[in-house]
Amino acid sequence: MTHDVVLIPGDGIGPEITEAMRRVVEATGVSITWHVEQAGAGVMDEYGTPLPQRVLDAVSKVGVAIKGPITTPVGTGFRSVNVALRHAFNLYACVRPCLSLPGDGSRYHDVDLVIFRENTEDLYAGIEFDPGAPEVAALAGLVDQAGLRPFRADSAISIKPISEAGSRAIAEAAFEYAERCGRRKVTAVHKANIMKATDGLFLRTVREVASEHPSIAFEDKIVDAACMGLVQDPSDFDVLVLPNLYGDIVSDLCAGLVGGLGMAPGANIGTSCAIFEATHGSAPDIAGQDIANPTAEILSAAMMLEHLGEAEAAEQIRAAVRATLAEGAVVTADVRRALTGSAEGAAGTRAYADAVIAHL
Ligand code: NAD
Repeated sequence: MTHDVVLIPGDGIGPEITEAMRRVVEATGVSITWHVEQAGAGVMDEYGTPLPQRVLDAVSKVGVAIKGPITTPVGTGFRSVNVALRHAFNLYACVRPCLSLPGDGSRYHDVDLVIFRENTEDLYAGIEFDPGAPEVAALAGLVDQAGLRPFRADSAISIKPISEAGSRAIAEAAFEYAERCGRRKVTAVHKANIMKATDGLFLRTVREVASEHPSIAFEDKIVDAACMGLVQDPSDFDVLVLPNLYGDIVSDLCAGLVGGLGMAPGANIGTSCAIFEATHGSAPDIAGQDIANPTAEILSAAMMLEHLGEAEAAEQIRAAVRATLAEGAVVTADVRRALTGSAEGAAGTRAYADAVIAHL
């Protein structure tokens, strides 16, 4: 059977790591028709938008995509293409496993965490107003009416919507995964002591869902304490469920527990569509040099193959990555540096992908 998959190479290191991923997937023998679509700053001139309609149409038609990272200008410029894709297809669950691999260069050797990050709400909703915007004055009026402490007149404002439905959807995804995969505990991460309305609603809703899944242990932790706990003893955690922004930050923290951003795969799952991508960004500092670590993207492809019903090929890829890293002879600069303190003798992106293919 041939599977259709939309491939969005992205920018920065995206084209290099997606090429490595594609070669590894093809080497498993699974038949895939890749529908390559471009998005990001590179298509702005041609389409007048970083996310052309043709990309949305392709993802909508095929239902499965894998992408490289796409650069988002900081502070000004277009909004994130990555966030826009998640909103366009209501990809409400961002699933990020963080699993130690032999020779991954981490201080820890037995990390096994899975992050469920709500992917559509929170401060990522894109409801933002610049200083001086009429909406800022209108909000100042509302704050005054409510008898709350006024904010400075020259403030910019970002709004943080968190809904019961959104919180329920991500909580159910986390608990159902925990039950299906034999996990022991779900931890809700929040800041409900300060943001009593938004994080309070998130926590209450996750608690309700927890009560519907009595076979899974449940606890909640305030996000700052959770970060401290994760770096001190990751084995204290199992499955984590978080609102969008904390999920973003804690995902990178957890990637750091398993050898860094080059190691952490991810999936954005909705009801009718799924987009797979590594946790990391476009790494402009190392782009175009054939030194990026494609492991996270390759492991994202393993998640995609599982989603496509190709569990055997997915496991074959994971085993090949494990074997390549365990051997340690052909690893990228980030891993070599973590293991030895120097990148000397590191392999390039392509050579590493070749080594993984040789271990399939
Ligand atoms: P980043 O994740 O791109 O890089 C952070 C650090 O990790 C850099 O030093 C980089 O070299 C290193 N790194 C990342 N991936 C690596 C890999 N595969 N192999 C080796 N080293 C790797 O984060 P950033 O620099 O903050 O963001 C760069 C751009 O990426 C920004 O425009 C940001 O908005 C975007 N971004 C996109 C996505 C996405 O497409 N889903 C996610 C996060 C960030």
